[in-house]
Amino acid sequence: MAKSTVYENVLKQLDNAAKVLNLDEQVKELLQEPMRTLSVSIPVKMDDNSIHVFKGFRCQHNDVLGPTKGGIRFHPQVCEDEVKALAAWMTFKCSLVGIPYGGAKGGVIVNPKELSRNELERLSRGFIQAISPIIGPDKDIPAPDVYTDAQVMSWFMDEFSKLKGVNTPGLVTGKPVVLGGSFGRHSATARGVMYTVREAAKAIDLDLNGATVAVQGYGNAGSFSAKFLNELGCKIVACNDSKGGIYCKTGFDPVEVAKHKEETGSVKGFKGCKEISNQELLTMDVDILIPAALENQITKNNADKIKARMLVEAANGPTTPEADEILFSKNMMVVPDILANAGGVTVSYFEWVQNIANYYWSKEEVDRKLEAIMVEAFEKVYNTHEELNVNMRVSAFIVAIKRITEAMEARGWVYNGDKC
Ligand code: NAD
Repeated sequence: MAKSTVYENVLKQLDNAAKVLNLDEQVKELLQEPMRTLSVSIPVKMDDNSIHVFKGFRCQHNDVLGPTKGGIRFHPQVCEDEVKALAAWMTFKCSLVGIPYGGAKGGVIVNPKELSRNELERLSRGFIQAISPIIGPDKDIPAPDVYTDAQVMSWFMDEFSKLKGVNTPGLVTGKPVVLGGSFGRHSATARGVMYTVREAAKAIDLDLNGATVAVQGYGNAGSFSAKFLNELGCKIVACNDSKGGIYCKTGFDPVEVAKHKEETGSVKGFKGCKEISNQELLTMDVDILIPAALENQITKNNADKIKARMLVEAANGPTTPEADEILFSKNMMVVPDILANAGGVTVSYFEWVQNIANYYWSKEEVDRKLEAIMVEAFEKVYNTHEELNVNMRVSAFIVAIKRITEAMEARGWVYNGDKC
């Protein structure tokens, strides 16, 4: 049987929740396909004066709750199917945490590590020009994702502002603070991961003091998750990146490992650690496993070998639907992506609110507001999981879909049986 695509995984997740909810077919149909996907070609002058044409996408899945929102990924494996899936997850995520956004996502097929800084800047500006007709602070607001960062967001914002002739900080989130970025946005995804780990640990009676953690992917989401969990008392024993992984039984300093990666390009070679493979990392005997890299990492082939008590998805889509069933049957606490990594889009929302108001908050205020939203969302998902005896992903989708359905009915997109 052919391997299912990432978008097929989303459809399966939607279907699983729809069955439990007895979801209106009209709502389901509207959620099964994105509103639009723009496919663009971006000619970029390379440093040797040749022209290279890159391909990119921006997908807007559903805007019933507000302007669409979602990151832009620069990665060689980007494809339309992946972008569609990531956009759909954003719709459910924004609904789940109660912020007034729909879902979107974008991507460019490129290995940014092979570009010079000037080439990367020209590509970033070219991509934002190409998608400029469909984005804007009231339409669709990009943000960072894999291999894009605050610098790329600055080029996006600058290029769009020049095109429109108006300074437009609210176009993107994840900007540097000096350009209207929010305090706390850079590490917000991981801070949200930390809050959900803390709440999930209470739910399964896991003492976090000395609890062991393995982190797959040591970029923005992964390295800050390791740092915050370490601050909670956890022992970080393993991590990896695209080049390889490291393990140390007694634990390592996650900030020092991040510095080492910054200096050498990888976590590999960190002093006092032994090298491990990706599969070894995923199946390690730890209390908490944090996938923070890419999709489809935990599949039916390795799910029954996973020994962690808790799996918290900092990445989007790391677990396939078949693997979900296996993990649920093993009674594992899985905190699904649309809940676990929602801290990123939540603080993006705070950033956008600050840009619109042109009034800026302290880091303490951002963190406090984020914590309140994450704790409330966790409680809703956990209570639904307990009440209906469904896995945490199904319950997260149920919470999200209920709000989307209500909005679709209120707007008159679907017939509501003359309810109001
Ligand atoms: P990033 O570019 O900062 O880091 C990605 C990391 O993953 C890098 O260390 C890279 O080396 C590593 N990696 C790539 N392929 C790998 C592999 N096969 N095995 C192990 N490691 C691998 O990206 P990020 O922003 O941290 O995003 C990571 C995940 O988190 C993605 O799924 C993204 O969609 C999700 N996410 C990010 C944010 C955010 O605010 N940055 C928000 C929500 C979700």
